Amino acid sequence: MCGVIGVLGTSQASLRVLQGLQLLQHRGQDAAGILTHDEDGFHFIRNLGLVESVFPKDSPEVLKGQVAIGHVRYATVSKAKAERSIPGTPPLSELPNVQPFIMNFPYGIGLVHNGNLENFKELGARLQSKSRRHPLTRSDSEAILNLFAEALAEQTKAETISFRHICEAVRAVHREAVGSYSVVIMIAGYGLIAFRDPLGLRPLVFGKRREADGKNSYLFASESTVAQFLDYTECVDVGAGELIATTLAGEVFRARIVEEKSRPCMFEWVYFASPQTEWEGVPVYNARIHLGRNVARKIREEISAGRIQPDLIVPVPETARIAAISLSEELGIPYREVLIKNRYISRTFILDTQDKREKAVQLKLSPVESEIRGKRIMLVDDSIVRGTTSKKLIALVRACGAKEVYFVSTAPPIRYPCHYGIDFPNANELIAHDRSDTEIEKALGADRVIYQSVDDLVSALQPIPGSGRKEVTPCLACLNREYPTAQKL
Ligand code: SF4
Repeated sequence: MCGVIGVLGTSQASLRVLQGLQLLQHRGQDAAGILTHDEDGFHFIRNLGLVESVFPKDSPEVLKGQVAIGHVRYATVSKAKAERSIPGTPPLSELPNVQPFIMNFPYGIGLVHNGNLENFKELGARLQSKSRRHPLTRSDSEAILNLFAEALAEQTKAETISFRHICEAVRAVHREAVGSYSVVIMIAGYGLIAFRDPLGLRPLVFGKRREADGKNSYLFASESTVAQFLDYTECVDVGAGELIATTLAGEVFRARIVEEKSRPCMFEWVYFASPQTEWEGVPVYNARIHLGRNVARKIREEISAGRIQPDLIVPVPETARIAAISLSEELGIPYREVLIKNRYISRTFILDTQDKREKAVQLKLSPVESEIRGKRIMLVDDSIVRGTTSKKLIALVRACGAKEVYFVSTAPPIRYPCHYGIDFPNANELIAHDRSDTEIEKALGADRVIYQSVDDLVSALQPIPGSGRKEVTPCLACLNREYPTAQKL
């Protein structure tokens, strides 16, 4: 998972991209980069680390130009997945894999990508054998860049670049790439383009802002919260399979390159996206309120059957807080924040090794023992993936003297790997894989584990009634193994 952004049509382009990347930091903490272009050529800064550590104070002055793209990186093709990498290429999380990527032919192209290609290995091999392109990175984003550049060069030849050529180049990417991709591309001397995979698995929005000089500037970003912050008031989703181009002359072109039913990732609403954002007409905050309300039904049944008797609803910070509040309101059981987050420890889920994750959990949350002792505690989390955090928290709360500990997940059991950019590519790492609910309870050490049902999840991810937006049919492949792409691993 990553965050992408592009701005065109203002001398503030790099500053806005920098601010946007700060807002998208939760989408990737491994690395960050910005690329701009002006009459002197490309300018870029990229490095490993968080946004605030990568960019020095004078970055906006160095990164000159009216067009800029940026990226925050979360490595999903990790060392543990070496079988999918190309021999002889550099190890992951090293500088060559940090985006934006640049290519000098044709025109000069820069690219940022959020997503994951299922057929990355095959594409890499094809690009090596047929196109004689040696990979410089281990990133599937480089494969997209190569596919696009190759097709654009073929299309344009001696002609001046036009939107028709770009449509054909994007069509070529769609023909070969399988998986999730929300892409922003800068073409030197032309402008910015953005497109999404035919299923629209990962988010991307497009915004317009009227500048002080009366001209328009344009924005692409992974989350609508960036558009809101940067005053791009006219903000819409880039549709599944859609291409949007904005030129240096201020023109905007749009085309639906592929017609398929969109299958947005449910995990964006459950966990990944920031609560201020809105996608497919579904505000993330509102979805999380409904996730809490919906799971209350199952909990009520458990209480009525005398299987549980919670005294307190306790959120696992931060993501689950919204759902835990609505759950508490729905059940009339007090809500208490008795797991105190150390805000300087990064999210454990996003760290790339089990060892790092386990250590981070211990540092990350401190319990308020006096509030926990002698009570039946209902912990609420957004999801249970590997179970590392959940298991440690249950043990922690027990060690504080809790009488019983129940664990509620606002997502259904995650039993199958994700091939589209969320970092659980191996089924064996998942606590719910091949385990019954009772076995999961035992493995976690909980008195009861309660999961959201799939139907209740889907009903929580629907547009607000009256918004005029279409019903959302999310990707649920990690829950039901129904992978929406043609090629399955
Ligand atoms: S498999 Fe799960 S995490 Fe991956 S895109 Fe689909 S819903 Fe999202």
